[in-house]
Amino acid sequence: KVKAGLAQMAKGGIIMDVTTPEEARVAEEAGACAVMALERVPADIRRQGGVARMTDPKKIKEIMAAVTIPVMAKCRIGHFAEAQILESLGVDMVDESEVLTPADEEHHVDKHTFKVPFVCGARDLGEALRRISEGAAMIRTKGDAGTGDVVEAVRHARTINRQIRTAQSLDPTELYRYAKELQVPYDLLQRTAQLGRLPVVNFAAGGLATPADVSLLLQLGVDGVFVGSGIFKSSDPPKRARAMAQAVTHYKDPKILAELSENIGDAMFGTPVNQQKRSAHGEASSSGSG
Ligand code: PLP
Repeated sequence: KVKAGLAQMAKGGIIMDVTTPEEARVAEEAGACAVMALERVPADIRRQGGVARMTDPKKIKEIMAAVTIPVMAKCRIGHFAEAQILESLGVDMVDESEVLTPADEEHHVDKHTFKVPFVCGARDLGEALRRISEGAAMIRTKGDAGTGDVVEAVRHARTINRQIRTAQSLDPTELYRYAKELQVPYDLLQRTAQLGRLPVVNFAAGGLATPADVSLLLQLGVDGVFVGSGIFKSSDPPKRARAMAQAVTHYKDPKILAELSENIGDAMFGTPVNQQKRSAHGEASSSGSG
């Protein structure tokens, strides 16, 4: 399908979050296949709080003018008016993103009504196939954006893989029941089982911070990666951006990954996801790595 064009092109690539034209040029020079134009990277959204909305169109236009690679931008979940505005600006893809504050707790954007392709986040196969049935041309794991902790991205990638294997093991009668359990259209689940993968391009996102993180997720079978805070919250963004872009190409070669991991400054400091969960449950979180 024409709409999936950019997603197909991005396959085997890395998409980087940027907040200025200068960062966009760093990303392009490092070998990013696209950039995501943002007001704040997820780590700052988490830290500063407040309602996170679509980026100022002026900033998006400046970033579009600064690079030759495709430019994506985020709308809030269910905020079809933000999506319409982003489409009118001529962005290459819209990310209907949980990183921003959701605008609708029950409905996602009907993505079939747009010409611009959409990418959506998913934690499991049910979410992924619901987003695809709504018209998403690309899926990414939700992970836990802004933490620098890869654990949730790994959980989501493994969950989707496991549920696809489950679907493949079922006979047609059982597959109807599984479609009901996942709350997804039967035909879409059947096609996914036949393909042995999601029927659209599937990237990892949320917490990736090192070349090794890139390799881990690609070895778990994703088609490419989004890196948000991991690059521009590190101590040497140009070096890290190049190393992580190279890691996408060489993800199967530990020797090259060792070289890429060397002397690239400090990774973003980050917040372990499990420490946050303990804090959220009122338990002590001062023990560090526990
Ligand atoms: N993810 C987020 C962040 C949401 O706010 C919502 C609410 O609708 C969902 C997922 C729901 O997704 P689904 O309808 O696929 O369960």
